Amino acid sequence: MSIEVKNISKIYGEQKALDAVSFSIKKGEIVGFLGPNGAGKSTLMKILTTYIEADSGSALVNGFDVNAQPQQVEKSIGYLPEHNPLYLDLYVKEYLEFNADVYKVNKSRIDEVIELTGLTPESKKKIGQLSKGYRQRVGLATALLHNPDVLILDEPTTGLDPNQLVEIRELIKNIGKDKTVFLSTHIMQEVEAICDRVIIINKGKIVDDRLLNQTFSSENEQVIEVEFDFKIEEQFISNLKNLVSFKNIHDNQWELVFKADEDMRPAIFDFAQENGLRTLSVQLKNKDLETLFREKTTQK
Ligand code: ADP
Ligand code: MG
Repeated sequence: MSIEVKNISKIYGEQKALDAVSFSIKKGEIVGFLGPNGAGKSTLMKILTTYIEADSGSALVNGFDVNAQPQQVEKSIGYLPEHNPLYLDLYVKEYLEFNADVYKVNKSRIDEVIELTGLTPESKKKIGQLSKGYRQRVGLATALLHNPDVLILDEPTTGLDPNQLVEIRELIKNIGKDKTVFLSTHIMQEVEAICDRVIIINKGKIVDDRLLNQTFSSENEQVIEVEFDFKIEEQFISNLKNLVSFKNIHDNQWELVFKADEDMRPAIFDFAQENGLRTLSVQLKNKDLETLFREKTTQK
């Protein structure tokens, strides 16, 4: 296991920020830690990165205990804090050199992380001259300097514009190909865009933990949005196999809910063809996650 959290609790005064939190993350997973503001995400990440201590429970990173072996834990982890402090007056390369010195990393690694995080075109600038997106790349480059196995990223895309958001998500996905990534966010689309798995936290408690979109199972609902090029009668739609419900969104656009062990999209293409129609779009919706997040994190 890359990360093992067992019964971690943390109390600030009267506030129970974490309440007996447990989960484990396998090597190579990209896991989203999803929850509303104040749920306890940053608190748990600070415990994993040895910045603060838990009141009770234990946590291991790469098999090292955060309390007993903090130095080995720090070597195993690259951390991008929520409000990443950067020295705006330093040049990108200067800043990375400074950090390479602090962490006793070979200077030759600097060019590698610049390349890896797409900083090459901006690497001659001062950090203060960079956009927020490029500043986050500097933060990621710093976190990668000592080539850690595990990356802990606290809200890595908060405050970015839509283009930067897409770029940083792509970058994280790429980096995640050969690292374990644990990233927090309050945006469920973020989890859908980047992660293999989601752990949902609310008010200091884990309320859900599941894999995303990898397998189809007849226990899970598969929601597919489809647009045909012509009008089709409800009675024809209801002929689709494994269909459990359907809704006409508007005109020729339908939301279809299936329970099936296989991906139903090819069957929809075939169905359209058999009925003399064409599909203008067939989209698998991860609607479950949005509903789930609302259900699990709002009070009745
Ligand atoms: P998240 O990152 O999910 O937004 P946090 O872990 O930052 O949540 O905070 C969890 C709860 O703990 C919040 O209610 C927050 O106000 C509280 N909290 C966090 N840090 C402190 C602190 N240093 N002192 C007191 N309360 C804190
Ligand atoms: Mg936070």
